[in-house]
Amino acid sequence: MIMFALGLGALAGIIVNISVSGNVGAQAVLNTLIDTIAHPVGQIFLRLLFIVVVPLVFASLASGVAGLGDISKLGKIGGRTLLFFLITSAFAATVGITLLEVVRPGDGFDPAAREILMKSYATQASEIQSKTGTAVATGVLGIVNQILDMFIPRNITKAIVNMEMIPLIVFSLLLGAALTKIADEKREAMIKWLDSLSEAMITIVGFAMKLAPIAVFCLIFSVTARFGLDLLQKLGIYVFLILLGYAIVLFLFYPILLKILTKRNPIEFLTKASPIMVTAFSLSSSNGTLPTSIRISETVLGIRPKVASFVLPLGATMNMNGTALFEGAVVLFIAQVFGVDLSISQQILVVMLCVISSIGVAGVPGGSLPLLMIVMAQVGVPPDGIAIILGVDRLLDMGRTVINVMGDVVCSAYINDSVMES
Ligand code: ASP
Repeated sequence: MIMFALGLGALAGIIVNISVSGNVGAQAVLNTLIDTIAHPVGQIFLRLLFIVVVPLVFASLASGVAGLGDISKLGKIGGRTLLFFLITSAFAATVGITLLEVVRPGDGFDPAAREILMKSYATQASEIQSKTGTAVATGVLGIVNQILDMFIPRNITKAIVNMEMIPLIVFSLLLGAALTKIADEKREAMIKWLDSLSEAMITIVGFAMKLAPIAVFCLIFSVTARFGLDLLQKLGIYVFLILLGYAIVLFLFYPILLKILTKRNPIEFLTKASPIMVTAFSLSSSNGTLPTSIRISETVLGIRPKVASFVLPLGATMNMNGTALFEGAVVLFIAQVFGVDLSISQQILVVMLCVISSIGVAGVPGGSLPLLMIVMAQVGVPPDGIAIILGVDRLLDMGRTVINVMGDVVCSAYINDSVMES
């Protein structure tokens, strides 16, 4: 049903987009319809998912760790998980850069079109740039403090209010670890309470999923009905190459990893995971998709709750393969458009920067754009050149979120099958 709604919503949006194009009055009516009907329906679904993220991650992670009994198991899972995240992100960034370097679609980019795009998206680009101001630390002490804040903030509630997931994960791990050290009866009582809380949250996700077909229709319709189809023509090759990159990772790289690391049937795995992919595609948000990926991984993919509740929240925050691929591709594309030559060593630097920055990207729509501008500046590519691609970014954002989330799901299957047999 959700898949069908996705296709139908996209098609309806495109048809409406074409039929109102050039007619200012009809466009205004369409915008009002989207704002008053499609937008709120989509938002109710999205917010039902967002609303459970914090209690779900907290309860399932703390209870999972407390139930491990032996904390050394956590180190083993953690090490493999982080290694998996790093290797897959580096691979994805390399795919993005290679595709853009081989085809070089930015070389012949029409200078007139470049100027028009730069002008029309200049305000958006400078809004994004203003967000990067607070993200860059200066000096060694500044960077050290920023890393400390990222992992152990002074105030956990403030971090939660800002939806910062890493401090929440650290706090839940600490609570779980501490529970293993207290008296049995107290620990058991707390684990029971945490388990009930996480089960109730998963049930709320179930309510949201009932709404999913109609909400997905509305979310996709809003995007395609407003989408700049004419822009798609100008940036067609750029868009095509990034989508090709996503397809390589999703249909080739992940299946190979599944075959080698898990012995699961990749086709069956991807088919069963399709509700996760559709949710990620419609929401463009890794954080928003987290409750669905936990639910489907545990109930359909047979991932143990202990593994799912550890790997998936961590992955939603730190592992963004689609984002790394996209960032690498954009840096090369904008460099080509502006005639900036990037040597092989600079391209390797771009891969490293993409991997590092994708760890810091927030799992929300457009979360990567501020950090992407920092990466561009590091290698001498004009950051405000990002204006050129902003008009088509929503489509690519939906795609990269699918790749991001599926990277986490594949990792949880690997950890489930390799580390924790019991
Ligand atoms: N929307 C992406 C996500 O939530 C982040 C990004 O690359 O903009 O995974």
